[in-house]
Amino acid sequence: MTIASISNFRKTLHQFPELSNQETATAQRVLDQFAHFPPDEIHQNLGGTGIAFIYNGKIPGPTSLLRCELDAVPVQEANTFGHRSVHDGISHKCGHDGHMAIITAVGKKLAQNRPHKGRVILLFQPAEETGAGALAVIEDKIFKLIQADFAFALHNIPGHPLGEVFVKPGSFNCASRGMSIKLYGKTSHAAHPDNGLSPALAMSKIIQLLPKIPEQIDEFSLVTVVAATLGTLDTAGNAAFGTSPGEASIMATLRTTTNTSMDSMMKYACEIATQCATEFGLSVKFEWSDIFHACSNTQTGYEHVAAACQELNLACTTLTEAYRWSEDFGKLLDTSKEGAMFTLGAGLDSPQLHNPDYDFPDSLITVGRDIFLQIIRGINGIK
Ligand SMILES: [Zn+2]
Ligand SMILES: [Zn+2]
Repeated sequence: MTIASISNFRKTLHQFPELSNQETATAQRVLDQFAHFPPDEIHQNLGGTGIAFIYNGKIPGPTSLLRCELDAVPVQEANTFGHRSVHDGISHKCGHDGHMAIITAVGKKLAQNRPHKGRVILLFQPAEETGAGALAVIEDKIFKLIQADFAFALHNIPGHPLGEVFVKPGSFNCASRGMSIKLYGKTSHAAHPDNGLSPALAMSKIIQLLPKIPEQIDEFSLVTVVAATLGTLDTAGNAAFGTSPGEASIMATLRTTTNTSMDSMMKYACEIATQCATEFGLSVKFEWSDIFHACSNTQTGYEHVAAACQELNLACTTLTEAYRWSEDFGKLLDTSKEGAMFTLGAGLDSPQLHNPDYDFPDSLITVGRDIFLQIIRGINGIK
């Protein structure tokens, strides 16, 4: 498999993107590709559409796991190039096509050159974008067969110099989760709101108080109110002008540097909503979605990434602050003794992730492959 053919493979994945938990054709394409350089074991349907390819070493030793993601995002592609997405409203705007190409290129090298000790697992994980994929893989009964001592993953990062690496020990990216607060009062005639119980005031008070929670948390955290509705609209989007509302909902994204701070933030947010509901005689319910755990790199994991970059003469910056965005690799990393996530610059001029005109830069495929191989060389030993 030449560099041109791995880049063609990336472009084919780009052309046929699939949303989270629907990545069956993508998984099949990956399987077909690995048939050219067979591993020692293949585990399919991990947490849904996930696949793990295992390359065994000659003698016992540590297990290393490298993760990439199978899913694309619900964004309409604006690009007009030959490999543009053929699926309306879906495209690889997070560069997971490129991450898959990198791990596939690693597979090809490992097939020619098995690890000396232990084993290397290449995990193609489903549903990263919803935050549900890593958890589904971990909860799969097969997971115990691929439990690793070391886990690593990368994400490309536009707006940073092409091929430059960014990593840090400790907190690497934030925990985040969607919070839905539902308030219930009583509808009444708009001429007699006094006969009902409108949640309007409680709703506006909650919207003002939620963003103040970070003042009580002594590391970076953020509450972003993303949507709020009062009463109900008809199918044409018109308000019922004759009715004083009896229901309201507020949606907010909670974001914290660590999982511990997320526990505190959730507690504060529930307390605020409950107090406001009680003050206005309303009942309240909570729902949580899009749950991402924080990713916390271990010191040893960080050192493996930094040492690999040094060996390869790649610029590697040690970050001083964790990224604000979330990624579900943190959940997988928690199941390993050591490991790290790092980012790989996708170019200063690249459109941002999830932009309609974004496309993964193919020149990163060999850079990412060589970093992973160097990390494996340090842990498992390869020629
Ligand atoms: Zn994404
Ligand atoms: Zn992504």
